[in-house]
Amino acid sequence: MSTKNLLIEAIKDQQNIFGDDLYENLNFSNQIKNNFLNDNSVKEKPEFYMPPKSLFENYSEYKTLESFNKKINTCQKCPLGKTRTKFVFGAGNPNADVMVIGEAPGADEDAQGVPFVGRAGKLLTDILKAIDFDREEVFIANILKCRPPNNRNPLPEEMNECTPYLYKQIELVKPKVILLVGLISASTLLNTKLSLTKMRGNVYEIQGIKTMVTYHPAALLRNPNWKRGCWEDVQKFKKLYESLK
Ligand code: SF4
Repeated sequence: MSTKNLLIEAIKDQQNIFGDDLYENLNFSNQIKNNFLNDNSVKEKPEFYMPPKSLFENYSEYKTLESFNKKINTCQKCPLGKTRTKFVFGAGNPNADVMVIGEAPGADEDAQGVPFVGRAGKLLTDILKAIDFDREEVFIANILKCRPPNNRNPLPEEMNECTPYLYKQIELVKPKVILLVGLISASTLLNTKLSLTKMRGNVYEIQGIKTMVTYHPAALLRNPNWKRGCWEDVQKFKKLYESLK
């Protein structure tokens, strides 16, 4: 990755965690902020959207993840269907107590058709192991099933098309708890514009399922000093899970 792209990714991470406070704390002038946000590779946080239940009621005939995967894995509802290498449905235990949800496949996931592989995937596996979950016993998915080019943030219209699939997956897996990793999945599925800092440590609900939020493993790779905060988040998540057993 070029130095410019590394810098942009690092600032995006900071914005994800601290929200617009970042600009005030760094005394960025409005002009600098606007220049930064006008860079084509950096999107303002999109307008998030909670799909109404009616959008996924059409899928009521699909009673298993396998049959649902067959139904949607040739999807072309948004332009990412044309640019993907592989559709990334999700992976893991179809009856998992724990579901982990990120934002979208990256390059490794797009190549393999499996969510959270590569360095970020290994870190997620280690994070789960730290709270005594094997990767195989949880179910891991993303909001988008196809990779956005150059790992850009998902666009609202792409999420609008794809989120109903995720809701159906949640309905089929019926987890006891959900862990959202990263700002995009957290703010989309919790329908909020709060920064990740403000969401971490709180317990929310998605379709009546207790849900918590932590950093995306890819952000942790770029900002190892956030690993301690992630450790604290997942300890709380584990306690929440234990309290529901
Ligand atoms: S991202 Fe989702 S909605 Fe878009 S083509 Fe892929 S599966 Fe379909």
